[in-house]
Amino acid sequence: MFVIKVGGSQGIDYDAFVRDLAQYRDYVLVHGGSSPLEEIATKLGKPPVFITSVSGFTSRYTDRETLEIFNMVYAGKMNKMLVEKLQQVGVNAIGLTGMDGRILEGRQKEALKIIENGRKKILRGDLSGIIERVNTPLLRLLLDHGYTPVLTPPAISYEGVAINVDGDRCAAQIAVALRAERLVILSNVPGLLRNPQDFHSLIERIARDQIEEFIQTYARGSMKKKLLSAKEALDGGVKEVLLGGARGEAPLTKTLQGMGTRIL
Ligand code: ADP
Repeated sequence: MFVIKVGGSQGIDYDAFVRDLAQYRDYVLVHGGSSPLEEIATKLGKPPVFITSVSGFTSRYTDRETLEIFNMVYAGKMNKMLVEKLQQVGVNAIGLTGMDGRILEGRQKEALKIIENGRKKILRGDLSGIIERVNTPLLRLLLDHGYTPVLTPPAISYEGVAINVDGDRCAAQIAVALRAERLVILSNVPGLLRNPQDFHSLIERIARDQIEEFIQTYARGSMKKKLLSAKEALDGGVKEVLLGGARGEAPLTKTLQGMGTRIL
């Protein structure tokens, strides 16, 4: 059993990814959609706004309108694109958001402590949150009947409000809840790089107790969240987390064979 997250940044070859995935069984797929979201939201006159927390993590500011556009792109365009491609290669995929059947449940963040122009500030009204519960029986029910869950944020709050959550962290939580052996996170880079501009500067192996140090030293932007997710997964009992690239043929197989960054 494994959980695989595929990102949504430019350069990912979804056809090659799905062809490769078709050879595997017993997994849950989580996906992103950041690049199409940025493109479509900008066309709609609502470009994404990013905020930086006091602890240095970047995330999208999600008001109601942003959340609706987010749903259009993640749950509409990206989720159904992957379901369609998987169906074409014989995988009985079923696409759901974390809201459906309360698959991903959590609490809305009341107020965010952010840094804006070098100053600390409290931000309210952000529809984002933290996942605290995974509806494991529902995922098991689907898997046991031969369906492959294809999942995307948003999650749902205890009050029934959609909350945006980070895709990598969703995947980590799901991996923990399903007691998956592995979590694989594929993006448009081959793994954690010493220099993000140089694909040859791959860091092949990270021990669990080095994660913090690697977050501080090498990871920028959303790569920080991938390492944080890896830490959460390992702390929750997942045996290894693999970060790999999805630009070419057989991205999952190559990553499982050790072509990316292995965290254990
Ligand atoms: P996804 O959309 O797949 O979740 P992102 O595109 O948000 O993923 O995250 C991957 C990005 O992280 C890369 O495209 C890269 O620009 C950036 N990044 C920052 N620091 C690093 C690093 N040290 N190594 C690799 N990528 C990094």
